[in-house]
Amino acid sequence: MKQQSSKHWRRASVSINVNALSHNLLKVREYAPGSQVMAVIKANAYGHGMLAVAKQLNDADMFAVAMPEEAYALRESGCTKPVIVLHGFRDVDELEQFSKLDLSSVIHQQAQLELLLENSISPAIDVWLKVDTGMHRLGISMDAVDNFFGQLRNSSNVANVFLMSHFANADDPYNDLNNNQLNNFLKVTNDIDVDCSMANSAAIMRLPKSHFEAVRPGIMLYGSSPFHNLPAAELGLKAVMQFESFLLDTKEVKAGESIGYGSTYTSDSDITVGLVAAGYGDGYPRHAGNGTPVWINNTCCDLLGRVSMDSLCIDLTAVDACIGDRVVLWGDELCVDKVAAASDTIAYELLCNAGAAYFADQ
Ligand SMILES: *Cc1c(COP(=O)(O)O)cnc(C)c1O
Repeated sequence: MKQQSSKHWRRASVSINVNALSHNLLKVREYAPGSQVMAVIKANAYGHGMLAVAKQLNDADMFAVAMPEEAYALRESGCTKPVIVLHGFRDVDELEQFSKLDLSSVIHQQAQLELLLENSISPAIDVWLKVDTGMHRLGISMDAVDNFFGQLRNSSNVANVFLMSHFANADDPYNDLNNNQLNNFLKVTNDIDVDCSMANSAAIMRLPKSHFEAVRPGIMLYGSSPFHNLPAAELGLKAVMQFESFLLDTKEVKAGESIGYGSTYTSDSDITVGLVAAGYGDGYPRHAGNGTPVWINNTCCDLLGRVSMDSLCIDLTAVDACIGDRVVLWGDELCVDKVAAASDTIAYELLCNAGAAYFADQ
Protein backbone atom coordinates (compact mmCIF):
# COMPACT_ATOMS: atom_id res chain seq x y z
CA MET A 1 0.00 0.00 0.00
CA LYS A 2 1.20 3.49 -0.79
CA GLN A 3 2.24 5.52 2.25
CA GLN A 4 -0.07 8.41 2.81
CA SER A 5 1.56 11.78 3.22
CA SER A 6 -1.26 12.68 5.59
CA LYS A 7 0.82 11.30 8.48
CA HIS A 8 1.14 14.77 9.99
CA TRP A 9 -2.59 14.86 10.41
CA ARG A 10 -2.57 11.67 12.38
CA ARG A 11 -0.14 12.62 15.09
CA ALA A 12 1.53 15.55 16.77
CA SER A 13 4.04 17.26 14.51
CA VAL A 14 6.94 19.64 14.90
CA SER A 15 7.69 22.39 12.42
CA ILE A 16 10.53 24.89 12.55
CA ASN A 17 10.17 28.58 11.81
CA VAL A 18 13.63 29.34 10.48
CA ASN A 19 12.94 33.07 10.14
CA ALA A 20 12.39 33.23 13.90
CA LEU A 21 15.87 31.75 14.36
CA SER A 22 17.39 34.60 12.38
CA HIS A 23 15.30 37.11 14.31
CA ASN A 24 16.55 35.69 17.62
CA LEU A 25 20.15 35.77 16.42
CA LEU A 26 19.73 39.48 15.68
CA LYS A 27 18.45 39.89 19.24
CA VAL A 28 21.63 38.26 20.54
CA ARG A 29 23.63 40.83 18.56
CA GLU A 30 21.53 43.64 20.06
CA TYR A 31 22.11 42.40 23.61
CA ALA A 32 25.83 41.78 23.06
CA PRO A 33 26.93 44.10 20.25
CA GLY A 34 30.63 43.87 21.00
CA SER A 35 30.94 40.09 21.09
CA GLN A 36 31.23 37.29 18.60
CA VAL A 37 28.36 34.81 18.67
CA MET A 38 29.02 31.14 19.26
CA ALA A 39 25.60 29.62 18.52
CA VAL A 40 25.02 26.55 20.69
CA ILE A 41 23.43 23.78 18.60
CA LYS A 42 24.06 20.72 20.80
CA ALA A 43 21.35 18.06 21.33
CA ASN A 44 20.22 18.36 17.70
CA ALA A 45 19.92 22.12 18.20
CA TYR A 46 17.73 21.70 21.29
CA GLY A 47 15.49 19.38 19.28
CA HIS A 48 15.15 21.70 16.26
CA GLY A 49 17.36 19.77 13.82
CA MET A 50 21.06 20.64 13.93
CA LEU A 51 21.91 20.78 10.24
CA ALA A 52 18.92 22.90 9.24
CA VAL A 53 19.53 25.25 12.17
CA ALA A 54 23.23 25.62 11.35
CA LYS A 55 22.36 26.39 7.74
CA GLN A 56 19.88 29.08 8.79
CA LEU A 57 22.27 30.59 11.36
CA ASN A 58 24.89 31.29 8.74
CA ASP A 59 25.38 34.74 10.28
CA ALA A 60 26.65 33.29 13.56
CA ASP A 61 30.42 33.56 13.99
CA MET A 62 30.88 29.99 15.22
CA PHE A 63 29.00 26.97 16.48
CA ALA A 64 29.24 24.91 19.66
CA VAL A 65 28.23 21.26 19.95
CA ALA A 66 28.72 18.80 22.78
CA MET A 67 30.20 15.77 21.02
CA PRO A 68 32.72 15.11 18.25
CA GLU A 69 30.11 13.20 16.21
CA GLU A 70 27.95 16.32 16.01
CA ALA A 71 30.92 18.32 14.72
CA TYR A 72 31.76 15.65 12.12
CA ALA A 73 28.17 15.77 10.86
CA LEU A 74 28.38 19.55 10.54
CA ARG A 75 31.55 19.33 8.47
CA GLU A 76 30.07 16.57 6.31
CA SER A 77 27.11 18.83 5.57
CA GLY A 78 29.49 21.47 4.23
CA CYS A 79 29.66 23.79 7.24
CA THR A 80 32.97 25.67 7.14
CA LYS A 81 32.57 27.87 10.23
CA PRO A 82 34.59 27.40 13.41
CA VAL A 83 33.03 24.55 15.41
CA ILE A 84 33.79 24.14 19.11
CA VAL A 85 33.31 20.72 20.71
CA LEU A 86 32.32 21.34 24.34
CA HIS A 87 33.30 17.89 25.62
CA GLY A 88 36.51 17.93 23.61
CA PHE A 89 38.48 14.97 22.24
CA ARG A 90 38.94 11.83 24.28
CA ASP A 91 41.67 9.88 22.44
CA VAL A 92 44.30 10.24 19.73
CA ASP A 93 41.96 9.21 16.94
CA GLU A 94 39.55 11.98 17.84
CA LEU A 95 42.40 14.45 18.22
CA GLU A 96 43.57 13.63 14.69
CA GLN A 97 40.05 14.02 13.36
CA PHE A 98 39.83 17.45 14.99
CA SER A 99 43.01 18.49 13.21
CA LYS A 100 41.89 17.03 9.89
CA LEU A 101 38.44 18.67 10.04
CA ASP A 102 39.64 21.95 11.59
CA LEU A 103 37.55 21.57 14.76
CA SER A 104 38.23 23.48 17.98
CA SER A 105 38.29 21.60 21.26
CA VAL A 106 37.39 22.53 24.78
CA ILE A 107 40.03 21.28 27.20
CA HIS A 108 38.56 20.63 30.60
CA GLN A 109 40.78 17.95 32.13
CA GLN A 110 44.40 16.87 32.60
CA ALA A 111 44.05 13.80 30.35
CA GLN A 112 43.21 16.01 27.38
CA LEU A 113 46.22 18.23 28.01
CA GLU A 114 48.45 15.15 28.10
CA LEU A 115 47.01 13.78 24.86
CA LEU A 116 47.75 17.10 23.18
CA LEU A 117 51.28 17.33 24.52
CA GLU A 118 52.25 13.69 23.89
CA ASN A 119 51.10 13.49 20.28
CA SER A 120 51.82 15.41 17.15
CA ILE A 121 49.11 16.77 14.88
CA SER A 122 49.19 18.99 11.85
CA PRO A 123 47.58 21.38 11.31
CA ALA A 124 47.38 22.67 14.89
CA ILE A 125 43.93 23.14 16.44
CA ASP A 126 42.30 25.95 18.41
CA VAL A 127 41.67 25.23 22.08
CA TRP A 128 39.15 26.65 24.55
CA LEU A 129 40.46 26.10 28.06
CA LYS A 130 37.50 25.70 30.38
CA VAL A 131 37.81 26.99 33.92
CA ASP A 132 35.59 25.93 36.80
CA THR A 133 34.71 29.22 38.51
CA GLY A 134 32.10 27.73 40.84
CA MET A 135 29.67 25.53 38.96
CA HIS A 136 31.72 22.40 39.63
CA ARG A 137 30.75 20.64 36.45
CA LEU A 138 33.30 20.58 33.59
CA GLY A 139 36.45 22.68 33.90
CA ILE A 140 39.91 22.80 35.46
CA SER A 141 40.38 24.45 38.84
CA MET A 142 41.33 28.11 38.96
CA ASP A 143 44.78 27.47 40.38
CA ALA A 144 45.64 25.18 37.45
CA VAL A 145 44.94 27.80 34.79
CA ASP A 146 48.42 29.35 34.55
CA ASN A 147 50.05 25.97 34.16
CA PHE A 148 47.57 24.67 31.56
CA PHE A 149 47.55 27.92 29.66
CA GLY A 150 51.34 28.12 29.47
CA GLN A 151 51.71 24.57 28.26
CA LEU A 152 48.97 24.95 25.66
CA ARG A 153 50.46 28.17 24.36
CA ASN A 154 53.86 26.54 23.97
CA SER A 155 52.54 23.48 22.16
CA SER A 156 53.04 23.30 18.40
CA ASN A 157 49.78 21.33 18.27
CA VAL A 158 47.83 24.39 19.39
CA ALA A 159 47.05 27.36 17.16
CA ASN A 160 45.10 29.72 19.45
CA VAL A 161 44.13 29.38 23.10
CA PHE A 162 40.94 30.92 24.50
CA LEU A 163 39.48 30.86 28.00
CA MET A 164 35.91 30.04 28.92
CA SER A 165 33.71 29.38 31.92
CA HIS A 166 30.02 28.68 32.55
CA PHE A 167 27.46 30.11 35.01
CA ALA A 168 25.47 27.90 37.37
CA ASN A 169 22.78 30.50 38.20
CA ALA A 170 22.55 33.01 35.37
CA ASP A 171 18.80 32.32 35.12
CA ASP A 172 18.56 34.12 38.49
CA PRO A 173 20.25 37.47 37.75
CA TYR A 174 20.16 38.61 41.39
CA ASN A 175 21.97 35.56 42.71
CA ASP A 176 25.28 36.56 44.35
CA LEU A 177 26.94 33.46 42.99
CA ASN A 178 26.92 35.04 39.52
CA ASN A 179 29.19 37.87 40.66
CA ASN A 180 31.37 35.41 42.55
CA GLN A 181 31.87 33.39 39.38
CA LEU A 182 32.47 36.47 37.27
CA ASN A 183 35.04 37.79 39.74
CA ASN A 184 36.74 34.41 39.85
CA PHE A 185 36.95 34.38 36.06
CA LEU A 186 38.34 37.92 36.00
CA LYS A 187 40.93 36.93 38.60
CA VAL A 188 42.37 34.18 36.41
CA THR A 189 42.06 36.04 33.12
CA ASN A 190 43.16 39.55 34.13
CA ASP A 191 46.88 38.93 33.84
CA ILE A 192 46.62 37.00 30.57
CA ASP A 193 46.16 38.51 27.15
CA VAL A 194 43.48 36.18 25.88
CA ASP A 195 39.99 36.19 24.34
CA CYS A 196 37.31 34.91 26.72
CA SER A 197 33.76 33.57 26.77
CA MET A 198 31.37 33.14 29.67
CA ALA A 199 27.80 34.20 28.87
CA ASN A 200 24.94 31.81 28.09
CA SER A 201 21.52 33.20 27.07
CA ALA A 202 20.55 34.43 30.54
CA ALA A 203 23.89 36.21 31.01
CA ILE A 204 23.69 37.70 27.51
CA MET A 205 20.41 39.37 28.48
CA ARG A 206 21.05 40.27 32.12
CA LEU A 207 24.80 40.21 32.91
CA PRO A 208 26.49 42.43 30.32
CA LYS A 209 29.78 42.43 32.25
CA SER A 210 30.14 38.76 31.35
CA HIS A 211 30.00 39.25 27.58
CA PHE A 212 33.76 39.33 26.86
CA GLU A 213 34.87 38.52 23.29
CA ALA A 214 32.38 35.71 22.57
CA VAL A 215 28.89 34.88 23.89
CA ARG A 216 27.27 31.45 23.77
CA PRO A 217 23.50 31.65 23.25
CA GLY A 218 21.44 28.49 23.24
CA ILE A 219 17.86 28.70 24.46
CA MET A 220 17.26 32.31 23.38
CA LEU A 221 18.02 31.39 19.77
CA TYR A 222 15.10 28.98 19.96
CA GLY A 223 12.78 31.69 21.29
CA SER A 224 12.41 30.62 24.89
CA SER A 225 13.18 32.58 28.05
CA PRO A 226 15.80 31.27 30.47
CA PHE A 227 14.14 33.26 33.30
CA HIS A 228 11.35 31.85 35.44
CA ASN A 229 9.05 34.86 35.42
CA LEU A 230 10.03 36.71 32.29
CA PRO A 231 8.21 35.61 29.12
CA ALA A 232 10.17 35.21 25.89
CA ALA A 233 8.02 37.79 24.09
CA GLU A 234 9.00 40.47 26.63
CA LEU A 235 12.63 39.73 25.84
CA GLY A 236 11.94 40.26 22.13
CA LEU A 237 12.27 36.59 21.22
CA LYS A 238 10.14 34.59 18.77
CA ALA A 239 9.14 30.93 19.06
CA VAL A 240 11.00 28.70 16.62
CA MET A 241 9.37 25.32 17.27
CA GLN A 242 5.69 24.91 16.46
CA PHE A 243 4.34 21.74 18.14
CA GLU A 244 0.83 20.96 16.96
CA SER A 245 -1.74 18.24 16.69
CA PHE A 246 -5.51 17.96 16.27
CA LEU A 247 -8.70 17.17 18.12
CA LEU A 248 -9.32 13.43 17.98
CA ASP A 249 -12.64 13.24 19.81
CA THR A 250 -14.98 15.04 22.19
CA LYS A 251 -17.33 13.76 24.87
CA GLU A 252 -19.62 14.91 27.64
CA VAL A 253 -18.56 13.97 31.15
CA LYS A 254 -20.96 14.24 34.10
CA ALA A 255 -20.17 15.95 37.39
CA GLY A 256 -18.44 13.59 39.79
CA GLU A 257 -16.86 11.46 37.03
CA SER A 258 -13.08 11.33 36.66
CA ILE A 259 -10.81 11.37 33.64
CA GLY A 260 -7.81 9.34 32.44
CA TYR A 261 -5.29 7.00 34.06
CA GLY A 262 -5.29 7.09 37.81
CA SER A 263 -8.53 9.10 37.74
CA THR A 264 -6.52 12.10 38.90
CA TYR A 265 -9.09 14.67 37.75
CA THR A 266 -12.70 14.65 38.88
CA SER A 267 -15.03 17.30 37.57
CA ASP A 268 -17.48 19.00 39.91
CA SER A 269 -19.77 19.99 37.05
CA ASP A 270 -20.88 18.59 33.70
CA ILE A 271 -18.14 19.31 31.16
CA THR A 272 -17.15 18.73 27.55
CA VAL A 273 -13.83 16.93 27.28
CA GLY A 274 -11.63 17.10 24.19
CA LEU A 275 -9.18 14.34 23.36
CA VAL A 276 -6.02 15.64 21.66
CA ALA A 277 -3.71 13.40 19.63
CA ALA A 278 -0.50 14.18 21.53
CA GLY A 279 1.13 12.47 24.47
CA TYR A 280 4.44 11.67 26.07
CA GLY A 281 5.32 9.42 23.10
CA ASP A 282 5.42 12.65 21.09
CA GLY A 283 7.53 14.42 23.69
CA TYR A 284 4.69 16.17 25.50
CA PRO A 285 5.58 16.18 29.24
CA ARG A 286 3.82 13.46 31.21
CA HIS A 287 4.20 15.61 34.30
CA ALA A 288 2.10 18.45 32.90
CA GLY A 289 -0.38 19.19 35.68
CA ASN A 290 -4.12 19.77 35.60
CA GLY A 291 -4.64 23.23 34.15
CA THR A 292 -1.59 23.25 31.84
CA PRO A 293 -2.62 25.46 28.88
CA VAL A 294 -3.42 23.83 25.53
CA TRP A 295 -4.45 26.11 22.63
CA ILE A 296 -7.41 25.44 20.34
CA ASN A 297 -9.54 27.90 18.31
CA ASN A 298 -8.03 31.00 19.92
CA THR A 299 -8.58 29.72 23.45
CA CYS A 300 -6.17 28.33 26.00
CA CYS A 301 -7.93 25.32 27.55
CA ASP A 302 -6.97 23.43 30.69
CA LEU A 303 -5.31 20.05 30.50
CA LEU A 304 -7.33 17.52 32.52
CA GLY A 305 -5.99 14.37 34.18
CA ARG A 306 -2.89 12.44 33.25
CA VAL A 307 -1.15 12.70 29.89
CA SER A 308 -1.19 9.33 28.06
CA MET A 309 1.32 8.03 25.52
CA ASP A 310 -0.57 9.26 22.44
CA SER A 311 -3.29 11.46 23.82
CA LEU A 312 -4.27 14.01 26.41
CA CYS A 313 -7.58 15.50 27.59
CA ILE A 314 -8.61 19.15 27.71
CA ASP A 315 -11.60 21.05 29.01
CA LEU A 316 -13.62 22.14 25.96
CA THR A 317 -16.73 23.22 27.88
CA ALA A 318 -16.37 26.89 26.93
CA VAL A 319 -15.03 26.34 23.42
CA ASP A 320 -16.69 25.75 20.10
CA ALA A 321 -14.57 23.00 18.55
CA CYS A 322 -14.92 20.11 16.08
CA ILE A 323 -13.06 16.86 15.62
CA GLY A 324 -10.04 17.54 13.40
CA ASP A 325 -9.51 21.12 14.63
CA ARG A 326 -5.91 22.23 14.96
CA VAL A 327 -4.43 22.16 18.48
CA VAL A 328 -1.22 23.94 19.47
CA LEU A 329 0.80 22.33 22.27
CA TRP A 330 3.32 25.18 22.06
CA GLY A 331 4.55 27.67 19.47
CA ASP A 332 3.39 31.09 18.28
CA GLU A 333 0.00 30.90 20.01
CA LEU A 334 1.26 29.47 23.30
CA CYS A 335 4.76 29.95 24.72
CA VAL A 336 6.60 26.74 25.57
CA ASP A 337 7.74 28.39 28.81
CA LYS A 338 4.16 28.28 30.14
CA VAL A 339 3.89 24.57 29.46
CA ALA A 340 7.28 24.03 31.09
CA ALA A 341 6.27 25.95 34.21
CA ALA A 342 3.06 23.91 34.51
CA SER A 343 5.10 20.71 34.14
CA ASP A 344 7.71 21.53 36.76
CA THR A 345 10.48 21.58 34.17
CA ILE A 346 12.24 23.94 31.75
CA ALA A 347 11.59 24.61 28.08
CA TYR A 348 15.02 23.15 27.21
CA GLU A 349 13.76 19.69 28.12
CA LEU A 350 10.42 20.02 26.35
CA LEU A 351 12.00 21.23 23.11
CA CYS A 352 14.61 18.44 23.16
CA ASN A 353 12.01 15.76 23.82
CA ALA A 354 9.44 16.87 21.23
CA GLY A 355 12.16 17.32 18.61
CA ALA A 356 13.72 13.96 19.42
CA ALA A 357 10.39 12.15 19.16
CA TYR A 358 9.43 13.84 15.91
CA PHE A 359 12.72 13.86 14.01
CA ALA A 360 13.50 10.25 14.96
CA ASP A 361 10.58 9.34 12.72
CA GLN A 362 11.50 11.47 9.73
C1 LIG B 1 24.39 24.60 26.64
C2 LIG B 1 25.46 25.58 26.88
C3 LIG B 1 25.29 26.94 26.60
C4 LIG B 1 23.97 27.54 26.18
O1 LIG B 1 23.16 27.77 27.31
P1 LIG B 1 21.71 28.47 27.19
O2 LIG B 1 21.24 28.59 28.58
O3 LIG B 1 20.88 27.52 26.39
O4 LIG B 1 21.91 29.75 26.50
C5 LIG B 1 26.39 27.78 26.75
N1 LIG B 1 27.59 27.30 27.17
C6 LIG B 1 27.77 25.99 27.48
C7 LIG B 1 29.10 25.53 27.97
C8 LIG B 1 26.72 25.10 27.38
O5 LIG B 1 26.90 23.81 27.69
